[in-house]
Amino acid sequence: MKGGDLAIMNNGSLKRGFARASIVLSCFGLVCMWIPLIFARSDWALLIILGTIAILCALMIKYLKLRCPFCGFGGLMPQWSKNDTYHCPKCGKLIHWE
Ligand SMILES: [Zn+2]
Repeated sequence: MKGGDLAIMNNGSLKRGFARASIVLSCFGLVCMWIPLIFARSDWALLIILGTIAILCALMIKYLKLRCPFCGFGGLMPQWSKNDTYHCPKCGKLIHWE
């Protein structure tokens, strides 16, 4: 899919709900993965699996839902709060976070 199609689809703006979901999921995933390492508990594999799944979900949201509406660049930093000064690192266009 080309960047132009994406811009038409979402009016050139990104949903902050998706950004927040991806931030929360990745934080949750990192905590789940670090706890067993910090306490050196190998029997907490379930936490690591849970953490991995959470991070994978966060990455999926990030790459599927948080692409630049103009050029389709998938490496944008999810913005938690309304930020109208964030520019796409690739094409330099202003990204509007709904
Ligand atoms: Zn861009």
